[in-house]
Amino acid sequence: MADRIGFIGLGIMGKPMAKNLLKAGYSVTVHDVVGERVEELVLDGAKAGQSSRGVAQVSDKIITMLPDSADSERAILGPNGVLEGAKPGSIIIDMSSIAPSMSQKIAAECSKKGVELLDAPVSGGEPGAINATLAIMVGGKQEVFDQCSDLLKVMGRNVVLTGDVGAGNITKLANQIIVAANIEALSEAMVLAQKAGVDPERVFNAIRGGLAGSAVMEAKAPMMLNRNFRAGFRIRLHQKDLRNVLQTAQELNVPLPVTALVQQMLGSLMNDGEGEADHSAILHFLEKMAHVEVRKGG
Ligand code: NAD
Repeated sequence: MADRIGFIGLGIMGKPMAKNLLKAGYSVTVHDVVGERVEELVLDGAKAGQSSRGVAQVSDKIITMLPDSADSERAILGPNGVLEGAKPGSIIIDMSSIAPSMSQKIAAECSKKGVELLDAPVSGGEPGAINATLAIMVGGKQEVFDQCSDLLKVMGRNVVLTGDVGAGNITKLANQIIVAANIEALSEAMVLAQKAGVDPERVFNAIRGGLAGSAVMEAKAPMMLNRNFRAGFRIRLHQKDLRNVLQTAQELNVPLPVTALVQQMLGSLMNDGEGEADHSAILHFLEKMAHVEVRKGG
């Protein structure tokens, strides 16, 4: 508990995660490129860091929660970044969903300065971040994980070390394949029911308790039926995750045909201006092809 925590990246996920650390009594110094996000956390008791470097200078463990590989690389290794300020013996926990190869590259640079890194991406979305029920999948050394597991358990319910650095993000990519394919399949099912004149809400109620039921269906079918596509998890971030999946799969010679297809759908939705919508808006791609709109009541 005596650890001083740094937190960089106060977006949809980072803000509630940092708030949970403050509620648990940790001393937290925060930074975001958007100043208002820092000010909100300061009202909740955080200290403001002037830069990623500044946060690292006053912290023993530094958490980053940023959009993509290039953002983690810049914030940790770049000028005025975490590594410039971090002391030997400190630990960086990068909770962003990024390419596993980037986690390994960042860890290698950190180890030259005696700084340890865990990659620890999460699943569970904004509600999981608010309610501290995230699934946290971690890559890194066992002894470093052991020093951080109490801290991670303040933000998540299921905290699992899956292997060396990079394994956390491999696990997250596996998760994102399953979520994307599920939302796409759910969208196809909803569009078919609608076009057949069968109320999609009744279809949902009939099948949710059977084999087709899933956490994805429970979260996303109500959003589709209520025509509520407020993110949640943005189309552009899921497109980014599937891009990282396909890049990693290519390096390993693993064909992933369904993932590639859904990634193209997400790209098309971004061209339609839907990058900021929730990923349940994959439904729009299927609706457009079928010339139908899914609605409660059929
Ligand atoms: P977001 O875009 O809402 O937040 C990212 C934050 O990082 C923003 O506040 C941005 O200003 C800040 N930022 C970017 N570059 C920075 C830098 N160099 N220095 C300081 N701050 C910087 O994204 P999010 O939804 O919170 O997602 C964060 C990560 O978590 C992503 O990798 C995403 O894929 C993953 N994730 C998101 C969800 C979700 O439901 N939103 C769920 C699981 C995982």
